[in-house]
Amino acid sequence: MDNALEFSKRSSFKREILLEKLYPSKIILPMKMNYGEAAVPTVKVGEKVLIGQCVGAPNPGSFAVPVHSGISGTVTEIKNITLPNRETCKAVVIESDRKRTYHPSVYARNSINVSASKVRGIVKDAGIVGMGGEGIPTIAKINMARRSGVDRVLVNCLQSEPFANCDFMRISESPEYIIMGAVALAGAVGVKRIDVLISDNRKEEIASLQNAMQMSAGDYSGFIFNFKYFKERFPQGYYGLVAKALYGVELKEGETLESRCKAVMFNCSTVYSCWEAIADNMPLASRIISVSGENSEGHNVLVPIGTTVSEILNTVNDNIKTSKRLVWGNCLTGLEISDPDNTPIIKTTSAISVITKKEFNTSSCIRCSRCEDACPMELEPGLLFNLLKRGLKEKAKEEGVHKCIACGCCSYACPAAIDLTGTIASYAHTLNKHKIEQNKLGFTEHSKINIGSVSLLETFEEDEVIETDADASDDIVLPFEGGKLV
Ligand code: SF4
Ligand code: SF4
Repeated sequence: MDNALEFSKRSSFKREILLEKLYPSKIILPMKMNYGEAAVPTVKVGEKVLIGQCVGAPNPGSFAVPVHSGISGTVTEIKNITLPNRETCKAVVIESDRKRTYHPSVYARNSINVSASKVRGIVKDAGIVGMGGEGIPTIAKINMARRSGVDRVLVNCLQSEPFANCDFMRISESPEYIIMGAVALAGAVGVKRIDVLISDNRKEEIASLQNAMQMSAGDYSGFIFNFKYFKERFPQGYYGLVAKALYGVELKEGETLESRCKAVMFNCSTVYSCWEAIADNMPLASRIISVSGENSEGHNVLVPIGTTVSEILNTVNDNIKTSKRLVWGNCLTGLEISDPDNTPIIKTTSAISVITKKEFNTSSCIRCSRCEDACPMELEPGLLFNLLKRGLKEKAKEEGVHKCIACGCCSYACPAAIDLTGTIASYAHTLNKHKIEQNKLGFTEHSKINIGSVSLLETFEEDEVIETDADASDDIVLPFEGGKLV
């Protein structure tokens, strides 16, 4: 991975002592924030809702996840919304009552034993999805891992995008939740081995996690933790690159980390949310996001999901607010925000990046090969761009265009300011989307996930069987009291 980009000098965040919390005046909750289908609103205009209350539920048999409110207040509107990722769905608008009242279903569990099937049920009901990007329902991933016979869980602490730091803030804030969440997920998958993937320069976060492991060692006896250290490079945490770095394998078309490497990977913020759901019965209704600009120190804010971009920017420093271009996500792979008043943070939004708009003068390719050096998938972006511009799509396929992960590194590196990513990634997306439709897997989007021959829909539905079919050997026992490990 020597050819990936290093941003360490440009993306450093100050170390924040306290996590800033934002209590917005309203939230806009889209019913589709996940890979799959949309939930259906379960509340009506005028209805009062509380923190942690379910406001959207899946239609029976659909590949959707529940949606919960992160504020208490009144439903003022149910409307159609189009997000920057071009998803259009219904959204529930809730005006805050400023009381921050929790729904009775949210409570710190006292001493209990949690079986593996119970963990799977909690994760499903809490609407947890992969928070590192694609939003795959975590229950589907757990079940796919079980079906693939994996032997370990990987906890992805490899956040490497420039101007994004929320995963590290989460580790600093709640390392014990990540450790116990990893144990719970390993139990839910049915494995004992947990590998924590983290950059070797993250000394404080490594120390926090190791300390939490020692503190809670009695609670996970029988589970084996290992740390795997990486060099901080972008886009280090992408699963194809993890497969290469850890196992020396290049995933072929149709192969997954689960099927080829017998490992399943969860983002560390997702792992945190799983334990929050188990220990506090709190569904996924808030998240940390990084807010940053090119010319300012970034920082992290804990926000209820559905908080609008404009309300977040109004709470952060002026330096960021005065910039010109808003990006939903990180500055390399994020999507432009055109209407910050009506654009909410969703379960997968890790950052808002504010970028000074520059006018680039595009010139011709000077054959410097910087794009090749930058491409983590070892493609030749300059060549692919040329082939696609000349309509030679078959030749581009032979050159592996479908492997593009839309990381943006080639465009970033190109001195001629050629729109390499836009051209290559959108063609790769079309190709992969077509393939998925042909496979009749039931999904038409988010093509860059290599789902191989396993249907996520099938694994998602499989849980209904698991819930009623737990046996004694399936049990994991996680003792804790009042949300604190004992
Ligand atoms: S956007 Fe695609 S082609 Fe460009 S560097 Fe990333 S993976 Fe390679
Ligand atoms: S980085 Fe840009 S100029 Fe250099 S070879 Fe690639 S496309 Fe051409």
